[in-house]
Amino acid sequence: MTSYRFVEKLCASCSHKNTVKFLSSTNALGSYDLDLRPPPMERFTMECWIENCIHCGFVWHDLEALDLDLPALTDVMSSPKWSELYPNRSGKLSIDMERFALLRSVLSTPLDEALAYQYAAWAADDEFDEVASMAYRLKAVAAFQKTLASNGTDHPQSPKISAITSDLLRVSGNFNQCLEFAGYWIKFSNDQKISKILSYQIRKAENSDSKIYKVADALD
Ligand SMILES: [Zn+2]
Repeated sequence: MTSYRFVEKLCASCSHKNTVKFLSSTNALGSYDLDLRPPPMERFTMECWIENCIHCGFVWHDLEALDLDLPALTDVMSSPKWSELYPNRSGKLSIDMERFALLRSVLSTPLDEALAYQYAAWAADDEFDEVASMAYRLKAVAAFQKTLASNGTDHPQSPKISAITSDLLRVSGNFNQCLEFAGYWIKFSNDQKISKILSYQIRKAENSDSKIYKVADALD
């Protein structure tokens, strides 16, 4: 069962008061997809993964964040890209997530940016907007690749990132890139589960299969 509570917070960007919906508890029933997209009950709590200022459109994992680069934040929020996304007239969660990813691309690490684009893709999946979900997946790929390019095999999360990225490439129909990418990273994998997942991605990409599969499918 999912339960919520409400908390008042001051926005770090505009200082106005917001009432934020806060997730108290939820259940995750079922297996995660290969890009770690959670099963429905947990996925339907995504609106609580971010906090959204109703006054200025700032969106972050904590509206009262103290460690923000405020000049950089102002630059993003006065950019042409921002004005395409805010006000969010459609009310789509994917658009809020895209604003979150845009802010993270400047204020946080490429890994955080990649995760935010994944959230946008999952929200777009649930809005049945396939064009947007594929575009967000490719933005996540670019940010994951930036993480791998600057850290290589040394990044503690590189095996996991390689497994997720190969799935994003395959599901978005980039089969050759998936084959090349998974074929490269499987050589560095010391983790049996990751190796199994990368082999699975290679088999599916060889068959031009862009379907969404679960982690459990690859490990069977
Ligand atoms: Zn605000």
